[in-house]
Amino acid sequence: MDLNGLYQEIILDHYKHPRGKVVLEAPLASAHHVNPTCGDEVTVEVAADDHGHLVIGYQGQGCSISQASASVMAELLEGASVDESVSVREAFVAMMHSQGNSEPDEDVIGDGVAFAGVAKYPARVKCALLPWMALQDAEIKAGLMAPKEETR
Ligand code: ZN
Repeated sequence: MDLNGLYQEIILDHYKHPRGKVVLEAPLASAHHVNPTCGDEVTVEVAADDHGHLVIGYQGQGCSISQASASVMAELLEGASVDESVSVREAFVAMMHSQGNSEPDEDVIGDGVAFAGVAKYPARVKCALLPWMALQDAEIKAGLMAPKEETR
């Protein structure tokens, strides 16, 4: 199987078997983001455990790219520190804005590498970024992160 085939498998697997698609009992904040051009919706909830590590839940509907991206993100960042979530998000956003010319680091963004090919399709970049932007908003609303700490 070539790399693109493998990446498609990963995306499909997350779409069919979403990780972290749960409603939190006591979220600190949530953010609902919509991608009108595709019809994707995602609501990301955040809380923090006793160590200040992220607890993430989300609900959503839409295309396989947006929903798989939410699952990848939730799986990757569950239990991460806020600082880690910021650097992982920056790496993912940079890859999505590279027009497919980046070499993503699987050690940093895990299954997020599967979206490397999606970066070539501007219309789908928004789908992939939707949950990550919602998480950023939720982190800011929850007071976990200062606003404008990173550029969009
Ligand atoms: Zn979409």
